Amino acid sequence: MSNFKVNEKCNGCLACVQNCPATALKYFDNEKKREILHNISLCARCGHCWRICPQDAIEFKDLITGEFELVTSLNLVHCRVCGEPVFTASLGEKVSNDLKAVVEALCPEHKGSESVSTWKKLSKK
Ligand code: SF4
Ligand code: SF4
Repeated sequence: MSNFKVNEKCNGCLACVQNCPATALKYFDNEKKREILHNISLCARCGHCWRICPQDAIEFKDLITGEFELVTSLNLVHCRVCGEPVFTASLGEKVSNDLKAVVEALCPEHKGSESVSTWKKLSKK
């Protein structure tokens, strides 16, 4: 979903298309319509189109002030001693497969220093 939006005040003058320094805007005239297209992967978010539009028709404030959006959510594996998150389940599975050995769920602090049972005892004190 693009955050670049043009409202109903646009009259198709093409000032934005002709002045975009990144060629992120283009237009297409078909039999009945003039269509204006925006390519987010080319857009430099410079705001030039927004500043020069004579109709104040470009609403791309979300492009500048947008918030973080969740793109993925992955299961975590926690340290068996202290419970700190150490890696994702899918990463652990991949590394275990690559190494042909199970990667221990231990954080850097607890890895290899003492046996897990010792740390469990200590953590209960
Ligand atoms: S400069 Fe503004 S009015 Fe002109 S085509 Fe672009 S968005 Fe529409
Ligand atoms: S913000 Fe800049 S790069 Fe993006 S479409 Fe507008 S003029 Fe082009």
